Amino acid sequence: MANPRVYLNLIGGEWTPSTSGKTFESRNPADTRQVVGIFQDSNAEDIQAAVAAAKSAFESWRLMPAPKRGEILMRGAQLLQERKDQYAVEMTREMGKPVFETGGDIVEAVDMAYFAGGEGRRMHGVTTPSEMHNKFQMSIRTPIGVCGLITPWNFPMAVPSWKLLPALVCGNTIVMKPAEDTPASIFNLVQCLIDVGLPPGVVNIVTGYGPTAGQPLVEHPDVPVISFTGSTETGRLVNKLAADKIKHVSLEMGGKNAMIVLDDADLDLVFQGAVWGAFGTSGQRCTATSRIIVQRGVAEKVINHIVEKASQMRIGDGTDSQTEMGPVINQKQMEKILNYIEIGKQEGATLRCGGQRLSDGKYANGFFIQPTVFTDVKPTMRIAQEEIFGPVLSIITVDNFDEAIEVANGVQYGLSSSIYTRDVNAAYRAMRDINTGIVYINAPTIGAEIHLPFGGIKATGNGHREAGPQLIDAFSEWKSVYVDFSGSLQRAQIDNVD
Ligand code: NAD
Repeated sequence: MANPRVYLNLIGGEWTPSTSGKTFESRNPADTRQVVGIFQDSNAEDIQAAVAAAKSAFESWRLMPAPKRGEILMRGAQLLQERKDQYAVEMTREMGKPVFETGGDIVEAVDMAYFAGGEGRRMHGVTTPSEMHNKFQMSIRTPIGVCGLITPWNFPMAVPSWKLLPALVCGNTIVMKPAEDTPASIFNLVQCLIDVGLPPGVVNIVTGYGPTAGQPLVEHPDVPVISFTGSTETGRLVNKLAADKIKHVSLEMGGKNAMIVLDDADLDLVFQGAVWGAFGTSGQRCTATSRIIVQRGVAEKVINHIVEKASQMRIGDGTDSQTEMGPVINQKQMEKILNYIEIGKQEGATLRCGGQRLSDGKYANGFFIQPTVFTDVKPTMRIAQEEIFGPVLSIITVDNFDEAIEVANGVQYGLSSSIYTRDVNAAYRAMRDINTGIVYINAPTIGAEIHLPFGGIKATGNGHREAGPQLIDAFSEWKSVYVDFSGSLQRAQIDNVD
């Protein structure tokens, strides 16, 4: 194999080695003998340099007309679309999911670039009449400054794009700290922007580990905005670290998403949706279907079909066009998932299929786990409560709609949910009563489009939304402007009182 590419940090438009000289490898989870890239193992000093570069670039970037900033994003989108096939293979090699999925990950970034780019010509403010004579007033959006973006590995390009592109169009400059397992895709995304004229210093990339590179970014006094996606555990820490400095912090975190199946559901739809929702991306989506809550009348049929389909899935290297499910991301995650499978067995759930690591032949050097289905799961069991983030599905049987909603809501997370039913009343009640940021009707818990707000409640999020019309809220500050053209002092709430 050719020597792996060495990626340097991007600081102030220059490709820069880490100050410590340390590096780390990213390896292919389908075959760990393959090194995908060598990246800089950065520390607080590197973050300091990147933040200084971003701070200096802010002064000119914020003054570029927003439509012009938007045009850069749109031209970047065009280039990204052209490079999609190559980047998709590279993403599969760094992260494992099949090429048809990594292609979708990139298209999501393309969509976001067009959507956020269009915001350059909207970015609407509000005008409102004054209570005074000869006075005009409006509120406008302004950029905030340097945004620190910290992202996970499961959507190596899509998730960073939801942050990067809206932040840019608003006029902010950026320091990105990608997940240590998947930095390459962020370089690919940013390269497209550089190639269409993004000025130096506007986007800076510093690779490295969470505590040594992520934490100094969160704590840096010149970074007023932190946008984080990752586990609830890390998000909680990030929130605490940023609290002292009174930063804007938006957190997108874990999920334990449920699909409800009522007795009157279209079962063919359920079977397809359940397998895609639970085992797409090897169950490593924040919105993955990790619980199915099925009404007793159809439970046996649903379980039998899902078990049959899960057992037949073609597992392998995601660059093989036959592969339906790839590996999980790394050794630690594989061990965590296998541990949860043991916990499920000990808790008394019935293991209906899977449950094993695959390690023979073509699987020998990768992190492959069989699609796993547990039945007889009680809502209080750990496998029904905790985010496993792997190809493990827990099926819970209930007697009626109300019990289904209660079980669906009975977890700490609130990201995504779905219900399969032909009863329009049940569908509308579910939309109203399920406590998640996203609800699907007759579709699995995954499949968000970028022009609706994305995010969750409870332990999933802290009140912000990414994407959708709200996409710029986290990255802009409101400024209210009063223009008095009366030529005299007019005192609000005093001079206009009869
Ligand atoms: P993680 O929390 O381990 O890491 C996320 C990022 O935080 C990484 O870049 C990591 O280096 C960084 N980090 C770790 N410690 C840090 C620290 N002390 N200070 C600053 N940064 C630190 O999460 P992960 O394993 O990469 O991703 C999986 C998690 O992400 C799952 O819980 C999943 O549900 C969640 N996720 C949520 C969404 C969403 O939109 N809600 C989307 C995708 C993934």
